[in-house]
This record gives sequence, C-alpha cells and structure tokens, in this order.
Amino acid sequence: MLQDFLSLLFPEICHACDQPLARGEHYICTECNVKLPYTDLHVHGATELNYLQQRFWGKVPVRFAFSYLHFRSKGRVQRVLHKLKYKGAQELGEHLGKRYGALLYDHGYAAHFDLIVPVPLHRLKLRRRGYNQSEGFAKGLAEALQVPWSSKVLERAVDTDSQTKKSRLDRWQNVEQVFLVKQAEEVKGKRILLVDDVLTTGATLEACAHALLQHGCSEVSVTTIAAA
Ligand SMILES: [Zn+2]
Repeated sequence: MLQDFLSLLFPEICHACDQPLARGEHYICTECNVKLPYTDLHVHGATELNYLQQRFWGKVPVRFAFSYLHFRSKGRVQRVLHKLKYKGAQELGEHLGKRYGALLYDHGYAAHFDLIVPVPLHRLKLRRRGYNQSEGFAKGLAEALQVPWSSKVLERAVDTDSQTKKSRLDRWQNVEQVFLVKQAEEVKGKRILLVDDVLTTGATLEACAHALLQHGCSEVSVTTIAAA
C-alpha cells in the first residue's frame, strides 16, 4: 500500500514521452514502445539495403552496422537520448541494450561477436558526467547476446567535443591519436561489436574501428541506439 501511495505521489515517468508509467511498465511506456521509430536493420544484415554500412565504405571495413532507432531531433528518440546523456538515466541504456540485444539474438547475431566494446569518453568528460552513456547500452547488449563486454580495451586520448565531433576529428589526421587500444591482447583475433549512443557521420566509430583493426582484431561491427 505504501508503494502504491508513493507511486501516486512520485510516479515513474516514461523516458520517451514524460507521461507517468502504468504499473508493470518500466523506463518506456507501452505506447512509446509501439511507436518508437525502429530501423529494423538487423533484419537485412550485411546487404546493400543497409545504408548505415554504406557510410563506412571506402573508410574502414565494417561487417555489420546496426542501429536500434532512427534519430529524430524532436520527440521520443530525442527525449530518450537526452535523458540517457544528461539526466543520469544509466539504467535506461542498459534497458535499451537488453531489448535490442534480444532482437539481435533472435536473428542469430550472437555467434558473430566475441567482444562488445563501448566507445569511451575522455576521462575528463567521464569525471564530469559520472558515467559513459554508451556503456549501459553495451552492458545490456552483452547480457542479451551472452557475449563478454569490456570498457578497458579502448581509451579516448583526445577530448573531442561531441557537438563538433566531425570537424574536430578531422583535424586529427592520424586517427589513432584520438583512440588508443589499451589491451591489445584482448583485441587480437576477436570479432568486436563497437557500441555508441548515436551515429551521425560515423567518424567516431570509424576512428575506433581503425584503432582496433590496427591492433589485430579480426573484424569490426558497429551498433548504436539511434542513427541519423
Ligand atoms: Zn511513453
């Protein structure tokens, strides 16, 4: 009864529409779960239909490129990403990772990955924010796919501002300067699934993929929560 009373006073809010959640709903309400703009790219696999994969053509070999959602600058997806990044909703990332991981698992992708690696934040930004918003998503994916994950493999050595990612990264002609592989022995011969929150130009994921491939990882795939 106390729980019911408290939830009347402080209802849990849907991270996508800001409406109170009903009993039994968690993080995202049923209506939003139905209406979120899913890409369904995992259904097509590595084919010409996969426009995300095309962004890496001629830059870095990417086995699979997926995104859970289409990025929208207004509405549900924008709210979800904002909460994930700035409102401390770490568990939301894990929740989304579990949901998407279950879909990927059902389509047989678990057998394609040996290790899941989130794109790291620079240590100063990590200290400011308190958490890496991509890490929860990676953790949820890892749990659903039953594949190990690690946030110790990569380090972001250069503090690129997320707002101007592309131009800032472009200035670093040598992309290995931005991301360093800290545990080369963990990377060697592995098929790695790289995980980030949002894919826009793909420059960040590209830089990470280069670093991993240079240290002997056998194959890189990428996935994000949302892709523009
Ligand atoms: Zn909702």
